[in-house]
This record gives sequence, structure tokens and C-alpha cells, in this order.
Amino acid sequence: MALAHNLGFPRIGHERELKKAQEAFWKGELDEAGLRTVGCELRARHWQVQRKAGIELLPVGDFAWYDQVLTHSLMVGAIPERFRGDAGAPTLQTLFAMARGVSDSCCAGAHAQEMTKWFDTNYHYLVPEFTEDQAFALSWEQLFEEVAEARALGHAVKPVVLGPLTYLWLGKTKGTPFDKLALLERLLPLYTEIFQRLAAQGVEWVQIDEPILVLDLPRAWKNAFERTYQQLQRAPLKKLVATYFGGLEDNLGLAAGLPVEGLHVDLVRAPEQLPDLLDRLPADKVVSLGLVNGRNVWRCDLEQAADLVRHAQARLGERLWIAPSCSLLHCPVDLEREDQLDPELKSWLAFAVQKCAEVAVLARSATAPHAADVTAALAQNRAVQLDRATSARIHKPEVQARVAAIRPGDDQRHSPFAERITRQRADLQLPPFPTTTIGSFPQTTEIRHARQAWRSGRLSELAYEQVMQASIAAVVEFQERLGLDVLVHGEAERNDMVEYFAEQLDGYAFTRFGWVQSYGSRCVKPAVIYGDLSRPRPMTVKWISYAQRLTDKVMKGMLTGPVTMLMWSFPREDIPREVQARQLALALRDEVVDLEAAGIRIVQIDEAAFREGLPLRKNAWGHYLAWATEAFRLCASGVDDGTQIHTHMCYSEFNDVIESIAALDADVITIETSRSDMELLDAFEKFEYPNEIGPGVYDIHSPRVPSQAEMVKLLRKATQRIPAERLWVNPDCGLKTRAWPETEAALVNMVAAARTLREDFV
Ligand code: GLN
Ligand code: ZN
Repeated sequence: MALAHNLGFPRIGHERELKKAQEAFWKGELDEAGLRTVGCELRARHWQVQRKAGIELLPVGDFAWYDQVLTHSLMVGAIPERFRGDAGAPTLQTLFAMARGVSDSCCAGAHAQEMTKWFDTNYHYLVPEFTEDQAFALSWEQLFEEVAEARALGHAVKPVVLGPLTYLWLGKTKGTPFDKLALLERLLPLYTEIFQRLAAQGVEWVQIDEPILVLDLPRAWKNAFERTYQQLQRAPLKKLVATYFGGLEDNLGLAAGLPVEGLHVDLVRAPEQLPDLLDRLPADKVVSLGLVNGRNVWRCDLEQAADLVRHAQARLGERLWIAPSCSLLHCPVDLEREDQLDPELKSWLAFAVQKCAEVAVLARSATAPHAADVTAALAQNRAVQLDRATSARIHKPEVQARVAAIRPGDDQRHSPFAERITRQRADLQLPPFPTTTIGSFPQTTEIRHARQAWRSGRLSELAYEQVMQASIAAVVEFQERLGLDVLVHGEAERNDMVEYFAEQLDGYAFTRFGWVQSYGSRCVKPAVIYGDLSRPRPMTVKWISYAQRLTDKVMKGMLTGPVTMLMWSFPREDIPREVQARQLALALRDEVVDLEAAGIRIVQIDEAAFREGLPLRKNAWGHYLAWATEAFRLCASGVDDGTQIHTHMCYSEFNDVIESIAALDADVITIETSRSDMELLDAFEKFEYPNEIGPGVYDIHSPRVPSQAEMVKLLRKATQRIPAERLWVNPDCGLKTRAWPETEAALVNMVAAARTLREDFV
């Protein structure tokens, strides 16, 4: 009998109940008991739906008040000094303080722990902080309480804990730098203690998440795996080491040989690892096949998955388990709630609840391949796959023909940068150190209300247009008054930089409740790419040319690039991502060309997600960077030499991909750097960035107003690495989350800083 189990279920609730409760609690509108009740009800409901869907071993420990890595830090007592206060044991207040910081007098205004992306997902975790004298102690009872809770409800459970090596890997050292691995000896006794407590509660299996096994690991870390699990071997329960988000590759032998009772592998990302794994696995070990994609919204191809099951079943017999590829944290909760999707599209989709049912069917298919329920499910699934493969809604011959007709050179501007820039400088007549912003200006409640009213039909098209035009006019007037050189229209019409374009492209669908947790109480609802992508009509031209008509200064057109459109959507699984990127590139290329035709001389193509699209493994970087840079250039190369193409990037570290950023061949890049004190410039030591660049001179993530002197200092630092004539002056990112007063104060100082630099260089 193959066992159906789950690695984790979304915790937010199908109505985002957790988000609402968290926020009410933070505002003081809900007390702690009320918050705990919501959590308790969510867990109970989620176990129930998983069980009803056919999951036999349920995850516990996937629930978190904010983030599962943060919960783990509390559990092992890795609580930074600034949050410890004088009270003894940590409380929920401690947890939220670590997550969100404290602004009042408590803990002397301790700043939150840093947050960063969880592997290559859009989920963010709180980065553990370790000091050299770090001590660990069991400090948080949540996991044990939840195990008791689930057992009291009569469920068979498998607690989930973050593995010791992944936990250390994800943390950051504070104070004098030291080797994190040195903490392992101190950490492991905690795991033994945790496992003993779980065993005492009657737990048979524990899931230990070690996703770093799919990364390129330094030798010392690989070695540490054996040592670690040898030491944990004595714990009185069975251990399933879970790996996901990729293939084990060079770590396959290591993972297969660990002295544990089971191993989970991701066969969605890396199906090719199965035969090798089956060959190298000790004869008594359980293998859990991750067959249902935990990262996307499509129904699993059950027949294809059942083939793998059959193959594995022949070798493993009783030792075969079936699961989603990773925790279902990364997909929306329940498709049943989608009452506005048309039946055909809906029949192609599966959210967390439906994915659990798919896991159950696959497990049944191992044991009873000819049972009526199994054959019926497979037949129904086959019909769906067939319908999708041939649907005219998806497959657009004109789009495919256009992609097929891309010729070498279509992704190249007419002339090299040196020639283009000479012409652009002559046309644009900008001063040295030209000033600009990244696109958005503060989104006031008035703007948001107008947008909502128009969307719900309460505000007429005409009235809406007038509100937007008034906002554009105000933003233009503001920029002229401050003396900025290259203006923007302010993006008032955009709810979100991806959704705004996705709504206007053919091939995108939208869900009503397809929320996925991004961090804490923040959820995102990515658009779904379901078919070949095209642009039926211009998307931004109306607004941007209106803005240009209001000023003699240069107005910068603004759109989101193909790579970012793709990364922040749920992509198709029936065609490769690079093909989707090309389709997007061609659609957006038409927009760039239309902007040029409307008299817009600078167009910015935002690629905020360019860096985060990088694969986890270095050996896959080349392929990704090749298609991602090609897609960008394809989008940017339909215009004349005289049209200046900008791009913008933020959120990450760019030094390791600087050559690919140069390969985008944008005339100008504006890029986040101020938060890292221009760390980016280090990359220019070995590599001379050839085009123009605006390293962000102030952090827009905080309301703090930077002084002119501060920005002058950063700019002077930049001039030591980048020739002055190639430097632009701009903030780190868009200003939409800021308020007007601080925006004005900061930009006044920024313009003054640029003027100071101009005096230095005349
Ligand atoms: N143009 C966008 C803005 O200013 C860019 C946002 C981003 O890079 N995240 O809001
Ligand atoms: Zn940005």
C-alpha cells in the first residue's frame, strides 16, 4: 500500500483568515485568545480537508503565526539579544517583534530580523541571526502543542521540522564573522530533545526538511550531513528527510545514504533523478515521490505521474510514499471557491485541496491500478489534458508563428551603444548627472478609491480618466517644480506592476481567491498564464502621451519587462518558460514601438525579478541568463537608435550577474544600491559596465529623508568606479508606498545633490 502524505498545507485559510486575524491583533482589535482561536480553527479545518481528500499522514508544524523559519528560531531559542527583554520565556509578542520590529519604547525600538526569499519561491522567511557564542535551548512549545491538538482530533500526523543544516545555512552570523557550521554541535542536542518529546507523544515519523540538498554545497557542508544524521540516528522515531525545489544531482549519493528511514525527492522539478535514486537506495528505505507540483496551479498529468509510480512500485513495494513536490504553502488553497472562472479553465486547475486529492489517487494507483475509482480519475484527467492540449483558447497559431519567425538579430538594436548614445545625447540634451525617478509616485487613497470605484462600475470611464489625468498633471507639475530632468507619469492607473499589464494581455487569467502567502500577513494573487500571449491593443500609450503633452521635458514611458511578467505569474507547464518569455517579449515590444511612435523618447522596461529568476544550481544559470537576456533585448530592440531604453532592477544582489545585466544592452539601468552602500560598485572592479547607470542614491523603503550631503557622498563614491558622464541620479525604486511630504523633501535633496556633482565636474 503506497502511503499518501503531505509536506505542508497553506496556513492562511481560503478567506485569508490568518491575515485578517494577524492584522486585527496587531491593531489591538483582537486579543491573543482570539488570535489563537483563529489559528486553532484553521489547523483543524486544514487537517480535515486534507484527510477528506485522502491524505493519510498529515503534516503538523506547517502552521506558523508569521513564518516557519521564525517559529524554528524560537523553538531552538535563537532569539537575538535585542528581543529578549527581562521576561523569561518568549511570547507571541516576542515572535511578532522579531518579525516586524518594535517601534515603541519596548526593547528599545529593536529592528526586525532581516527577511529574504525562501529558495527560488516568492515566499519570504525571517533570517535567523547567530552569534559566535550562540546558545540553543528548547524555548517554544508550539510544535508539541499542535501535535497534541491533531492527535486529539484523531489524526495520524507527521511533524515537520526544519533540518539542522538547512536551518544553519539560512542564517546569518552577527558580530565577528565565524563559520556557522561550528554551531552544529550545539544545535544537534536540541533535535535529539525535540525528537524524544515527539516520540513520547506517540509520533512515529518526523519530516526533516533539508532543501539545501538540492543546492551546490561546499564540501564541509556535505560532510556535515553524514555526521549530523549519524548523531540523530539514535532518536527514537523514524525520520523522513525531505528535499525539494530541484534535483539532488551531486548530492544524490549522499542523500540516499543518510542513516535515516526515508527520503523525499522532488520529481516535478527533477523527474530524471528517479532511476538513479532507485539504484542507489539502501533496500530498507522509504522513498517519497514528489509528483504533484506544489508550486503551480495546474492539474497534475496523472497518467504520466502514474507511470513513475508504477516504475517505483515495482522496486519499492511497501516502501513507496506519494506526496506533492514540496509544501503546498506555495499554491492557493481551494479551487472550489473560484465561482467566476469559466468551467473549461477551471477544469485545468488544481489548488492545494485538489492537489491533495491527486496525491491520494496516485497512491491508490500504486496499490490498486485497476480499481474503478483510479481508472475513472485517470480517464477524466486524460480528457482534461487532451482538451487543454488542443484548445483553441490556448494555442494561437499567429502567436506561435511570430515566435517561430524570430530571427537572429531581432534581439539587437540597430547600432552599438557607443553610436546610439551619441545620438541620444544630442537629441535629449540632458545635463550631466541627469535626475529621474523609477516610475511610481505616492498612491494616495483618492487614487486607490477611484481605481476601485471604476473597476466595480461605480465610477464612469470618463470620470475615472479625469481623476487619472488630474493625478498625472499634478505629478508632472511637481517634477517640473523640483527641477527633475527626465519625468514620469506616476503610474496612478496601476494597481500592480504585473497585474496591470497581465489584465491587458490575451492569455492571462485571474482568480478571485488564488492568494499565496508572501510573508507574514502579506499575500499575493499571481495572475495565471494559461495560453499563448499577445497584446490586442496599446496598454500605456494613452497615459504616457497625455503626460508628455503637459511638458516640454522628456517623459519616460514605463512598462514591466517580459522576465518579470513571467516570474511573478503562475506560468504554463505545457510549454517551456523561455517560450512564454518570448511571447511576452514580442507583445511588450509592440508597446515600446507604439510609445516611440507616439513621440516618447525614453522607455523604461522594468525587470525587478531578473535576478531572482536565477536557478538554484550554478550549472543552470547559463541557460536561464541566455533566454532571459534575449527576451529583454527582443522587447527593447524594435526601436530606433535615438530612442533611449532604460531598465530598472531592485530587490537583490547583482554583482554575480553583472555581465548578463550588461548583456541586456539597455542604454541606461537604474538599480538599487543605497541600502548596501553602493556594494554594487565592487562588481565594477573586475568588469567595466559599458552603458549608462543610475545607482540608487536613496532607500525608498523607509520614510526617512536622506540629506543632500549623504547622497553627494554616495554619488562621489560612484564616480570613482563609473565615468561621470555615464552616471544618472535617481532613488532606489518607485515611490508608490511613500507619502508626499517625505517624497518631496527627499527629491529636493536629490536634485540638489545632482547639482553639486555637476559643479564638481564642470
Ligand atoms: N516602475 C515601477 C515603480 O516605480 C518599478 C517597481 C519595482 O521595481 N519594483 O513602481
Ligand atoms: Zn524597483
